[in-house]
Amino acid sequence: MKTLYYKIKDFLFRDVKRENEAKDTAILLRLLTLLSTVYYILLVVVSFRCLPVWSILFAVASIVLMIVIFSSSYRDKTAICLYSYSAVSAIFFSVFALISGTNFGFQYIALFSIFLVFFRTEGTLAYKYTYAITTGILIAVITLIAGTHDYAKIDQSFVFKFILMLNVVYAMIVAIMISRFFCLKFSASEHKILQYSKKLEQLASVDALTGLQNRRSMMQHLEKLAKNYENSEIPFSIVIADIDHFKSVNDTYGHDTGDYVLKKLAEVFRGFMAERGHVARWGGEEFLFTFEGNNADYIFVELNNLKTLIKDTRFHFNDFDLNITMTFGLEEFDSGAGLLNVISKADQKLYIGKEQGRNRVIY
Ligand code: GH3
Ligand code: MG
Ligand code: MG
Repeated sequence: MKTLYYKIKDFLFRDVKRENEAKDTAILLRLLTLLSTVYYILLVVVSFRCLPVWSILFAVASIVLMIVIFSSSYRDKTAICLYSYSAVSAIFFSVFALISGTNFGFQYIALFSIFLVFFRTEGTLAYKYTYAITTGILIAVITLIAGTHDYAKIDQSFVFKFILMLNVVYAMIVAIMISRFFCLKFSASEHKILQYSKKLEQLASVDALTGLQNRRSMMQHLEKLAKNYENSEIPFSIVIADIDHFKSVNDTYGHDTGDYVLKKLAEVFRGFMAERGHVARWGGEEFLFTFEGNNADYIFVELNNLKTLIKDTRFHFNDFDLNITMTFGLEEFDSGAGLLNVISKADQKLYIGKEQGRNRVIY
């Protein structure tokens, strides 16, 4: 039973052959043509005795056309199928409204084709409005002409009520189908836009070479930390670090080696900072760290560990073995001084570290 369900589903949801055709429109059309076929058959079977012979032949022709449109949705242009479906439906309901009067509201079912025409993303808006207005005029004309004449002589019997109910159920299912597809289409594109904007946001906050946060994103993070500090007074420190004699690495071993050192250092930082705070590429060969939740005395010890870790890390590139050291300026955040002042103080300490001979932490 389940496999039969999946087989039918696969069959109905199979892609159209032409690549540029909208798959969802084709699937919606298949479901609608199937539904119409069932509806036409039910209508004819129930009102068989009341209908003129020619109208039964007309209904049979409509059923055949629906089946043709259904199978064409696998081969031909979805657009042609859509217009054919709309045309066959409009003519079918107009004819039934004309032969049985306006009591059953057949003519109003044609309104659904307007939703269908707007469902397609292709096609100009002017065309869609023209279609909608023409359909409206057609319905108005049919309502006027049909009046309350009932050539089919469908009286207040079971048949009368059955057709009334059949129309309500049919209209409801068509409305659900079209709305459901609108909804799926809308949420799918919304999801795509959301993913895309997340990706853009990520690209805008990450440094391309090292994959670390960039300066802009770190600045936002610092502002957040400073704001939190006002409420919770959770201590944090700012550290600015700079690679020692990096220019000579570039000059001696080439720019690619310099890039390799930056990337390898970023890896070391990521590992080290995992649960301690954040790190960003602040400038060319300068990095800014935030140590969150501890006081600066403790961080001073941690930073000396990082300094040693860098010194002991093997930097091997293009048969070159390099020794890299870094100098660090550490300053604990102080809300009285303000964020920019704290950053500037950390920077000054870095400068002092350079002057004192590099490869050290200044606190
Ligand atoms: P100090 O110990 O005083 O910091 O000396 P230094 O040579 O590191 O300092 P300096 O400011 O003279 O040189 C920094 C160098 O960093 C110069 C620049 O070419 C290099 N640099 C900056 N960004 C990049 C980058 O993305 N890739 C590479 N390979 N080099 C970079
Ligand atoms: Mg340097
Ligand atoms: Mg520098």
